[in-house]
Amino acid sequence: MKNFFMIFQEFLYDIAHNFLKPFSGLFKKNSVVEKILIGLEKVGKGAVYNCQMCGECILHSTGMVCSMNCPKTLRNGPCGGVRLNGNCEVKPEMKCVWVRAFENATQMPKYGSEMMWIQAPVDRTMKDSSAWVNIYQEVDPKKMSNWQTEEDNLRLQEMWRVE
Ligand code: SF4
Repeated sequence: MKNFFMIFQEFLYDIAHNFLKPFSGLFKKNSVVEKILIGLEKVGKGAVYNCQMCGECILHSTGMVCSMNCPKTLRNGPCGGVRLNGNCEVKPEMKCVWVRAFENATQMPKYGSEMMWIQAPVDRTMKDSSAWVNIYQEVDPKKMSNWQTEEDNLRLQEMWRVE
């Protein structure tokens, strides 16, 4: 059942991506369209993923778990403090965000292997902006700085093994 739910989320992500692409020319910074998208992202992703509006959404690469809910806001995890039961060292009552991310990713046939990508540090200046606008405007600092090259990513993805 979980497997189906994760595949369904991958499907929805692709639908959103393909639906928005033809309109990407309208996605300008500080535009009315961005304001609308910010509202939609806050409500939609906020309700489902407890989205923290970092403006650099990597949900589909982290098992559809918002990594900004990690108390250390790690972009690559987990840290070395995960408890033996898989819970967080900072919030012992909470399952580690990154344990959840890895568990989910094993159920995601299309994007699961992106868990192996090394994510760039989050750019705090992008907080509360629209991730969709940033993607289509290519203001994503990872792209600008060539943080991740396609070759690097493919090499890392080849290491992904799910037993
Ligand atoms: S245990 Fe997991 S959720 Fe807690 S701080 Fe470390 S990486 Fe973040």
